[in-house]
Amino acid sequence: MEGSASAEVFTSQTVQPAHANPRGQLSAGQLLKWIDATACLAAEKHAGISCVTASVDDIQFEETARVGQVITIKAKVTRAFITSMEIIIVVKIQDVFTGIEKLVSVAFSTFVAKPVGKEKVQLKLVTLLIEQDHLEHNLATERVRLQHERTFNSLMKESSTFSDPSCDEEERTVSTEGTSVQSIELVLPPHGDHHGNTFGGQIMAWMETVATISASRLCGGHSLLKSVDMFKFQGPSTVGDHLVFNAIVNNAFQNCVEVGVCMEAFNCQEWSEGRGWHINRAFLIYNAVDNKEKLITFPRIKPISEDDFRRYRGAIARRRIRLGRKYVISHKEEIPLCVHWDISNQVSLSNGNVEALRKLAAKISKTWHFSEFKERIKIYTLEEYNVLCVWVEKHVERPSHLAYHLLSDFTKRPLWDQHYVSCKVIDWVNEDDQIYHITSPVVNGDKPKDFVVLVS
Ligand code: ADP
Repeated sequence: MEGSASAEVFTSQTVQPAHANPRGQLSAGQLLKWIDATACLAAEKHAGISCVTASVDDIQFEETARVGQVITIKAKVTRAFITSMEIIIVVKIQDVFTGIEKLVSVAFSTFVAKPVGKEKVQLKLVTLLIEQDHLEHNLATERVRLQHERTFNSLMKESSTFSDPSCDEEERTVSTEGTSVQSIELVLPPHGDHHGNTFGGQIMAWMETVATISASRLCGGHSLLKSVDMFKFQGPSTVGDHLVFNAIVNNAFQNCVEVGVCMEAFNCQEWSEGRGWHINRAFLIYNAVDNKEKLITFPRIKPISEDDFRRYRGAIARRRIRLGRKYVISHKEEIPLCVHWDISNQVSLSNGNVEALRKLAAKISKTWHFSEFKERIKIYTLEEYNVLCVWVEKHVERPSHLAYHLLSDFTKRPLWDQHYVSCKVIDWVNEDDQIYHITSPVVNGDKPKDFVVLVS
């Protein structure tokens, strides 16, 4: 049977002081609770029976809401399978004075319909009315196919063949020891959903609380949740259960840090016997700012124990999956190698950059023409149709992670590249994409030159 397309649910909230952190910003935990509740309403509207959260895909937060602003959340079922549904949730903030609306996040979660008795569930199909409905419906299978776990395991296997991180004397490194945080929660009736199960959004909010403390311990600043990695609920818990949360920093990548949280659930008897019955885990990514609102650069993490090393490598694998997924989902069609810069197409431009790099990397097997060798620098070219690719290679006697750190911080380039006089960030698009203004010295009596480049 075809369902109606009205399985769309809207909720609106005004951010009150009770929803905010000490800096007057909406706490991410509260937002996760609202997201989950709205998604549950959309799932139940479609299913006609009660539903519980099964998983939440990666969530990225683009904006932070402040006390007094209005949050609107729209949730809609994009695709129904047999007992499970994918829900899209769009969160926006509106400033009451200016009326300006900004996108906070687009999230996807999966809900499972839970019949009361033994009846078999067969969810109705979703009616697709507009082109956007068709697109979201098709991408739902795409997302299911992404096979997070298999990719993760193969990346872990691959990374275990590399040598463990060695640290240079000059670099500031820290161990994660002091970032470990534990908290125990008793599930009370207000934490349960309308069926007595612990509300998924509440569990995520508790996880966020311990993870925020853990991240702050590493940086000594205010940590801001940027994204939550794919999150699966392994089993239900109910009112009266005891939930133990443990969090620790797994790894840091320049301006962001990954904190892992694991939660163990106990009922009363298990609590006294000290054996939990199921575990949930989540990985949260934070930025941090100092008291002048400046983004903090995290020190490099120095793993010590075997567990530290596994988590350190796990965080790298998850970061690679996140970046890959971002480009797979946001851009499916062929991208030209050159896109003209314009503020309105910055997303497509940065996707274009990544795609272009992938294309260049794929050309490794082709025959590059060796053209120059000068001061330990080799230059190769490859001419194809109307495109000329240039490959510049220089061997440096430095560990690769140090070279990477130096190369990836573009503002340091004038320190080692004589063709750069200055290099300043003019727009921080997001943590992966920045726009720089570069000035070059006078060459052969020509005028000094400057450039604006986007670095992904
Ligand atoms: P893994 O250790 O392989 O990442 P786990 O399910 O054991 O997977 O844990 C998930 C995350 O929870 C870990 O990455 C870690 O960040 C955090 N964590 C697990 N156990 C502890 C602990 N005892 N103390 C602090 N944090 C922990």
